Amino acid sequence: MRSHLLNDTTAESYRRSVTEGVERVARKLATTRGPFTGVTPAELAPVIDAVDLDRPLGDASAALDELEDVYLRDAVYFHHPRYLGHLNCPVVIPAVLGEAVLSAVNSSLDTWDQSAGGTLIERKLIAWTAARIGLGPLADGVFTSGGTQSNLQALLLAREESGTADLSKLRIFSSECSHFSVQKSATLLGLGRDAVISIPVDRNKRMQSVVLAAELETCRAEGLIPMAIVATAGTTDFGSIDPLPEIAALAEEYGAWMHVDAAYGCGLLASLKRRHLLDGIERADSVTVDYHKSFFQPVSSSAVLVRDGSALRHATYHADYLNPRRTVAEQIPNQVDKSLQTTRRFDALKLWMTLRVMGADGIGELFDEVCDLAAAGYELLAADPRYDVVVEPQLSTLVYRYVPEAVTSPAEIDRANLYARKALFASGEAVVAGTKVDGRQYLKFTLLNPETTVSDIAAVLDLIAGHAEQYLGENLVHA
Ligand SMILES: *Cc1c(COP(=O)(O)O)cnc(C)c1O
Repeated sequence: MRSHLLNDTTAESYRRSVTEGVERVARKLATTRGPFTGVTPAELAPVIDAVDLDRPLGDASAALDELEDVYLRDAVYFHHPRYLGHLNCPVVIPAVLGEAVLSAVNSSLDTWDQSAGGTLIERKLIAWTAARIGLGPLADGVFTSGGTQSNLQALLLAREESGTADLSKLRIFSSECSHFSVQKSATLLGLGRDAVISIPVDRNKRMQSVVLAAELETCRAEGLIPMAIVATAGTTDFGSIDPLPEIAALAEEYGAWMHVDAAYGCGLLASLKRRHLLDGIERADSVTVDYHKSFFQPVSSSAVLVRDGSALRHATYHADYLNPRRTVAEQIPNQVDKSLQTTRRFDALKLWMTLRVMGADGIGELFDEVCDLAAAGYELLAADPRYDVVVEPQLSTLVYRYVPEAVTSPAEIDRANLYARKALFASGEAVVAGTKVDGRQYLKFTLLNPETTVSDIAAVLDLIAGHAEQYLGENLVHA
């Protein structure tokens, strides 16, 4: 069994194994016809059930053959131009290369003595990101597993910085379009059920700062404490960006921590054309960025940044075996002192390789392309009588709904849209997402692939209309 250990004596086997795996994936990518095969859980479960984990195959080729059936054939492929579903981007090759290197070396970023250079590389990327945001000289941060964890950590710091022992008094303000991890974090942080005050959005799905101001005033009048305001820079559904300068001013006035959730909108930090959309983000106390959403990085790659690095001390705990107190005095850079995680992947390497090969402008150019595509897609939808489109996009999502010419009940239109989404998924020809707007069923394109064209969008809209019409037609027959 020692022949399977990666070490000085097994370099040849490592090279062969990994090359074979890369070869299979490359072949797969070259031959996938659609983003998905449409396989159902009921069809796939028996294939996976049939695998006897207690009877190993012994060699990589056999395991890769099997992998074809249990995974590769029916995976959902984000690189395909008709994958328009969730916030998943196609990945850039330098990042995939970084991924291969980091998992082979297997550094763990919790302590210097498990990573060395990896620690400094992560620190440099945190400083780079903070500088792009404009957080100032005291800024710091740490890589995380994703936006959910980044938001949780930011709100933990906000809770601790509030200096309040009575958690029932703390309130968080975020728009009704903010990510559900805000509510989840509030619960995990022990705040009350009604700790999160949901602020309505305007017609462009941006937080109404006038309502925010009124709610802050009410909070103060009731003797409660405005712990944090979460501004979303790129809402998950609409890509809308809350009015950051106005929110920053209110946060200052009411002494609230300002967190900007830029999990999606962070791609603008590299944009050549649209960076101004983030103006005001530099006034945040903390910022969430998901490189795995708009920097074309593989999952996971995310970070939380803070204006005042000393706030990260709220995540510092010492363990004799790992990061004893003396290491602080000795100035040993142990990232675990800043993180909610202990053992932690060197995800930063992927971004490093990306910046070293392509540069930030390269990433920004790709992100600008998908934002341009969304603008063109909006024109298409707005001119199409079959569809109702919700807002003109600031980033790269489009939320729309098929509306048949013959007047049908809204509930029937809901069902037709839901049916169309499911039928499209089952066909494997394209993948789109769905969401609700004012209680009604809508569909969503998340455009993160620069290879997707306006004609792809047009073709998928035709497919959706076809499925929806089929549903309505059949239902008429049955009615
Ligand atoms: C996706 C998203 C998150 C959660 O990020 P994960 O990486 O999926 O944990 C948080 N906020 C916003 C606005 C998002 O779009």
